[in-house]
Amino acid sequence: MLNIDAIHMREINMPLAHPFETSFGLTTARRILLIELEAEGLTAWGECVAGEHPYFSDETIDTAWLITESELGPSLLDAEVERGGSCPNIFRQVRGHRMAKAALENAVWDLEAQVERISLAELLGGTRSVIPCGVSIGIQPSQAQLMEKIATELAAGYQRIKLKCKPGWDTKIFEAVRNRWPDITLSCDANSAYRMKDLDHIASWDQFNLLMIEQPLWYDDFYFHSMLQKRLKTDICLDESIRNRRDALAAIDMESCRILNIKVGRVGGFSEAIAVHNAAEERGIPVWCGGMLETGIGRSHNIALSSLPNFSLPGDVSASSRYWSQDIIEPARARLRGTTRPHRSPDRSPPDALGKGTSHRLKPSIYRSGYRSGSGVASSR
Ligand SMILES: [Mg+2]
Repeated sequence: MLNIDAIHMREINMPLAHPFETSFGLTTARRILLIELEAEGLTAWGECVAGEHPYFSDETIDTAWLITESELGPSLLDAEVERGGSCPNIFRQVRGHRMAKAALENAVWDLEAQVERISLAELLGGTRSVIPCGVSIGIQPSQAQLMEKIATELAAGYQRIKLKCKPGWDTKIFEAVRNRWPDITLSCDANSAYRMKDLDHIASWDQFNLLMIEQPLWYDDFYFHSMLQKRLKTDICLDESIRNRRDALAAIDMESCRILNIKVGRVGGFSEAIAVHNAAEERGIPVWCGGMLETGIGRSHNIALSSLPNFSLPGDVSASSRYWSQDIIEPARARLRGTTRPHRSPDRSPPDALGKGTSHRLKPSIYRSGYRSGSGVASSR
């Protein structure tokens, strides 16, 4: 049993070192909800990846805040929590809100790893000691700036370059990049920016020998992606469409994709992420770990997850300094060229730099009945 005494919810505001543009628009700063669990004299952390706007998914930091404070947090404090893997059952009455659930569940896994005195990677069943890293490069103000950025990332040793794309920032860009670097591992991510009228246009990208085309069509679709995949030599990778193991099975069986992107927040926590990983592995579908502009806390959780055996393609687990001038935990440890390693010791994730270079508000916390507040849920907004 893990006796959780308190859940602290904290919102921080972090300016990005460089603005990041996707087909959704430009991001210059992130509001991030952090979960801090107090239990067994230990402190464990989780990070919610929901954005400020409901563009990537229908959740936002504000919906995650509300549902954590009013539903998930109290349920967790009332439950008998055996381990991280108990959380899906504890949260089962709440539909959706997967990013909010993941932040709490992942903090419980972090706690369990500390109690067991093993690393989070080990607890999750990880076997890889070296994780290959790729980078995701946002839409740039000009082609020249994109080329410069790619040159920098390749020089840093990253093993896969992923280009965010949208209509008007696609074929010509891929052509220019392929002309300069014919042999690099290159992929693209459209974040649902195309429709069926673009089928021939997308099919013409086969000439660029892309590792994958990520989520070209609707964010909630399998069927039209399966029609597109039949037309393409290039593998489709699904991201937004995959919410859980059943979605992964449907997408694989319908041949909507041949690669899966796993984001632990998008699927609701480590338990479901492992289930998606295992389902894909049994069917011979490789996976990789996608990034959501996380701080070091979320990033360390992604690295631990990426140590599972079927994460055979380079993930978006690049150095913290690519995103933040000041991260909230000690940035990624020893990085070899284009790789990273999961932590050997239990992941403590002390946010020792909270406040440095970030603005943060500690919002009301939720306490176990009798703990400090003595009155159950002590939070109010
Ligand atoms: Mg994506």
